[in-house]
Amino acid sequence: MRTPLAARLAGQGTTIFAEMSALALSTGSINLGQGFPDVDGPASIVEDAVNAMRAGRNQYAPGWGVPELRRAVADHQRRFYGLDFDPDSEVLVTTGATEAIAASLLALVDPGDEVVVLEPYYDSYVACIAMAGGQRVPITLRAPDFRLDLDRLRTAVTPRTKLMLINSPHNPTGTVLNDEELSAIAQLAVERDLIVVTDEVYEHITFDGLSHRPLATYDGMRERTLTISSGGKTFSLTGWKVGWAVGPADLVRATMTAKQFLTYTSAAPLQPAIAAALTMADDYFRDFAASLQAKRDRLAAGLEPLGFKVFKPQGTYFLTTDIRPLGYDDGIDFCLGLPERTGVVAIPHSVFYDDKEAGKPLVRWAFCKQDAVIDAAIERLATLVR
Ligand code: PMP
Ligand code: GLN
Repeated sequence: MRTPLAARLAGQGTTIFAEMSALALSTGSINLGQGFPDVDGPASIVEDAVNAMRAGRNQYAPGWGVPELRRAVADHQRRFYGLDFDPDSEVLVTTGATEAIAASLLALVDPGDEVVVLEPYYDSYVACIAMAGGQRVPITLRAPDFRLDLDRLRTAVTPRTKLMLINSPHNPTGTVLNDEELSAIAQLAVERDLIVVTDEVYEHITFDGLSHRPLATYDGMRERTLTISSGGKTFSLTGWKVGWAVGPADLVRATMTAKQFLTYTSAAPLQPAIAAALTMADDYFRDFAASLQAKRDRLAAGLEPLGFKVFKPQGTYFLTTDIRPLGYDDGIDFCLGLPERTGVVAIPHSVFYDDKEAGKPLVRWAFCKQDAVIDAAIERLATLVR
């Protein structure tokens, strides 16, 4: 029989995260691959969800999301970024940021449209652009700095460009786009009348005093930007899959048009719990980022003496290394052999690139793990150089 997979999904296979997590399980390895914390977020949020279930909030939520979460998301955008959105027409609750990405691309991209996207890509971008029939046009963030190449940004946009898909803080490089980079994106979007979809799921995970600034805050951007985020990262509840898209009513309505036929509506009892979480005091957000910064530093301090070239991220859960100083040059081979050899799982960058060479010697490590787990992973990795 011919392959049943539709041509537009050819080559998508299984996500690298699922593949590597399965390998971690089957080899009993420490999983520094898929980005999920090994300690759950605040117990009070979990209690709120349990209470919502006990209170009978177990039937379909409104398609747009429960009112208190839409309000909480709008309040969050005002509190942290000074942005005003109408909870009734400019906020859509989704099943994780993943659904917001899928629904927005399906809603906004026509076959043949070009989508300018940062490479290395988060894997769902590639699949969703393909499902929409669009063409991806990459802008590569290159080692050692992983900064946005402003000349390439200008040449990437053509008359066929429908939208730019931006991610900052950026997975997997850890780049937090700076003011010059964000201004250049904003200027170009306004000049060429482009939509921008921006994935800001790591908005509260920035380090060294840097803060995240949404693209929607730039001149001319509020009316053309769809901002996507989720509670998964911010509250260490990645399995809950409560996300949202915020933007001008026409972009949000378009996204809703697709979303209603993907999941119709998202998990009802989890929504009030995330609404309450978004109102937590500033201390929570500050302490959370500080704790991840300490973990970043702990992992970096363990990997550097082993010979890895470490690129310290400015944000996210992830740190990237170059493996060439240890005598390896292919991240895929390295990561496939690593569990057997050392009992540790990591993610090869090259699966996130069209330009395979740019990602070949790079490997991503998740540090959203308990200190003892990071230390044990370092201990195991030390056998590579013994
Ligand atoms: N975007 C990026 C950049 C991510 O790293 C992730 C992974 N968690 C997501 C989107 C998906 O978020 P969610 O789990 O809320 O669907
Ligand atoms: N965002 C997580 C990561 O980058 C993975 C989420 C997933 O498995 N889709 O590791």
